[in-house]
Amino acid sequence: MNKVAVIGAGLAGCEAALVLARQGINVSLYEARPQRMTPAHTTDLPAELVCSNSFKSQDVPSGHGQLKAELSMLDSPLLALARKNAVPAGSSLSVDRENFSRDVAASIAAEPLITFIRQECTEPPDGFDLCIIAAGPLASEGLCGWLTKEFSSVSLNFYDAIAPIISADSIDYSIAFSASRWVEGEGDYINCPFNSDEYKAFFDALTEADKVIARKFENEKFFEACLPVEEIASRGYQSLAFGPLRPVGLDDPRTGRWPHAVCQLRKEDANGESYNMVGFQTRLTIPEQKRIFRMIPGLANAEFLRFGSIHRNTYMDSPRLLSEDLSFKTRPQLFLAGQLCGNEGYTESIATGHLSALFACNKLSGQYLCPPPDVCALGALHRHVISSLVQPFTPSNVHFGLFPPIDIGNRRKVGKKEKKEMLCKRADEAFRKWAELHLKSVKVI
Ligand SMILES: Cc1cc2nc3c(=O)[nH]c(=O)nc-3n(C[C@H](O)[C@H](O)[C@H](O)COP(=O)(O)OP(=O)(O)OC[C@H]3O[C@@H](n4cnc5c(N)ncnc54)[C@H](O)[C@@H]3O)c2cc1C
Repeated sequence: MNKVAVIGAGLAGCEAALVLARQGINVSLYEARPQRMTPAHTTDLPAELVCSNSFKSQDVPSGHGQLKAELSMLDSPLLALARKNAVPAGSSLSVDRENFSRDVAASIAAEPLITFIRQECTEPPDGFDLCIIAAGPLASEGLCGWLTKEFSSVSLNFYDAIAPIISADSIDYSIAFSASRWVEGEGDYINCPFNSDEYKAFFDALTEADKVIARKFENEKFFEACLPVEEIASRGYQSLAFGPLRPVGLDDPRTGRWPHAVCQLRKEDANGESYNMVGFQTRLTIPEQKRIFRMIPGLANAEFLRFGSIHRNTYMDSPRLLSEDLSFKTRPQLFLAGQLCGNEGYTESIATGHLSALFACNKLSGQYLCPPPDVCALGALHRHVISSLVQPFTPSNVHFGLFPPIDIGNRRKVGKKEKKEMLCKRADEAFRKWAELHLKSVKVI
């Protein structure tokens, strides 16, 4: 029977392993933890979410919503488990992270064709027909060394920053209020409102705070979509109030008006015992996080369950190295998936994990799987990974900028909302056609 090795039981690796097993293929899934932990993982569970507990928007029309719709049509095992473990978060899909990972572990354990091996791979293991490397943005040094040697110094590093988590019972609810943006009445978020004096004091403290100094091997390059809060603040006095602290659509019940700025807190677990500080990825030192984040109205006595921090992020120069089927041009039996191949984000990692498994299945049966069309979300993401022209290559999450422009016929202009709807309609139709034509086992809903 065909055998595939998957390196890394993260989001991409677990998705790939479950999809392969579903196709009747024997899989050995290798995971380095707990023997070798990464700088961000804290458990030995598969598919651990290392930062936010959010898989982002489920709404269509949006790039994230469309990608989820397509993954649902593919019957994505991990997306189904994320939905099963959802916590209230407005239109985004946020999960109870521990229950989610436990459910992934249970699905893997229940799959007779998957052997779960707790072992670091410093190179692709011998004895397999194919191997998928899904070791993530924090792939172990040994494996990175092998990749660099094999593919000549093509792995890149940049920083990602993670947000603090605070305990729910340490929030002062006489100041903080519950609301979702633009929604009347009680909402899913806890909101900490600033007046203009409080905002100024907070801004001054943040821009003068002590930061963690980068380690020697870490080269400071921030990914624009995940900027540390102090980095955003340094770009201008109002950059926070128009960015992560924007107050629009949030009426403070005490004043009936929008505050000057708002720090939003999102539920981290199903019981609402812990809250994530939305947009507060940071590289401040721990004493500075305690001092400055407790200046936020409502958080004077905040108990930090996890502090924010920064970490290395690794990915390959995929457009130069990979073929259309996500295998290396020079090693067609070896595939890349997840963040290491150049997508960014949890859902996107599930998506490329799923896709790599479909490509691998086809290669095993000697067939060529035509990639999804670039007008759909999965296809746009795939296209970015294998043929982005941006130099140097940078990972991307799914967004409409990756989609080819829409044909608006003889109309001179279409509104933003209508354009997004047109993009999603086109994506949906193209994806269904592709799936019906190329994926026999797919249940297209
Ligand atoms: C600090 C940080 C914070 C992030 N925050 C977010 C966020 O909030 N939201 C978001 O959408 N995305 C975030 N990302 C981006 C990214 O989408 C996630 O990291 C996502 O988990 C990537 O999925 P993956 O499967 O590629 O890697 P991972 O989920 O990291 O899985 C890789 C697995 O491989 C294992 N492994 C590593 N090396 C080896 C080896 N040699 N042998 C065997 N196993 C190995 C690791 O232990 C890990 O379990 C963040 C990234 C980082 C680094």
